[in-house]
Amino acid sequence: MIPDFLKARRPLYFIYLICFVFCAGKTTRPPAGTEPGFSRAAANVATFPEGADKTLPEVKKFTHEDIVFYAWSKDFARGHAILFEIESTKSLSGLSLLVNNRELKLVRGDGCLFALFANSPDTKRLKNDIEIRRDGARVTGFEIPVVQLEYPIAKSKLTVSNFSNATKPASKETLEWIEESRKKKIKAFVSVDENFLTSEIRYPRDEHKITSPFHIKRVYERFKMVKGKKKKLPGKTSFHGGTDLKGLTGAPIFAIADGVVNLSDHLFYDGKVVILDHGYGVLSGYLHQSELLVKNGERVKAGQLLGKTGATGMVQGPHLHIFLNIHGVKTDPLSFLVLPIRPAK
Ligand SMILES: [Zn+2]
Repeated sequence: MIPDFLKARRPLYFIYLICFVFCAGKTTRPPAGTEPGFSRAAANVATFPEGADKTLPEVKKFTHEDIVFYAWSKDFARGHAILFEIESTKSLSGLSLLVNNRELKLVRGDGCLFALFANSPDTKRLKNDIEIRRDGARVTGFEIPVVQLEYPIAKSKLTVSNFSNATKPASKETLEWIEESRKKKIKAFVSVDENFLTSEIRYPRDEHKITSPFHIKRVYERFKMVKGKKKKLPGKTSFHGGTDLKGLTGAPIFAIADGVVNLSDHLFYDGKVVILDHGYGVLSGYLHQSELLVKNGERVKAGQLLGKTGATGMVQGPHLHIFLNIHGVKTDPLSFLVLPIRPAK
């Protein structure tokens, strides 16, 4: 039987086909191992648990005079992360990168400058316009198509006991907790201008099973009990802001990359949550934990134990909800894990 969320992806096959026809010749995909990035990505995904997607990322390569420009992504779809790298046979100084006319801060990597970017999951944009400047003057430009991935729609409504049942009005304490949680989260969504991505990327769990995919459209059931009977209220529609990974209570949760703990706290909806800042606008979050093992302000390494899976907050059962935010854009966290980031040595 084909799962519902895969059925919803059928139109994607046609988009890939169309994209393949139009993009053929523009995409360079050397055999794995002949590109430094591929061997890096291969070594990275080799550490992923059984069953995780170990497909190496796609790369698009553009050259112009002394400039070599790479764009790496799982598949350049909307909702997915992209790694841009610039190399030069002359000099990297004075180079800047603009994506859709907005400058993207470049980080010095191993023999390159790099930047992370994400296509919004809802973007209607069909291509990203890339421009490279030197000392403010345009050197060259490229276009990278955006694959119009269709995200799934959940068929059944979700019932979450402490959210769906609106019979009793929330207590003053609960309302205060909700408000306090909201403020703490806003404060945690701040990324500093410092690169913490100084080593390889790691998988967040020691086993792999997606229980709810990124950006699936879901409706939460809402009801009131009147004289012992359920009275339906309008449901609440939301788009899943992260990916749910299976995890029974007490299973380990690992940091996907080096970073600083911006938040380690118990919030109303998110439950026990850790939010990491990876620097330069990249943040990751780990929700619904049963136990938090890191403290606010602590520096963590990729693969470090952050806490344990649980069922705190607004959930149906224990799991890890992981989210990724790149320059304010909600991004499929799993699309980030395959990128061959080359930190400066
Ligand atoms: Zn979730």
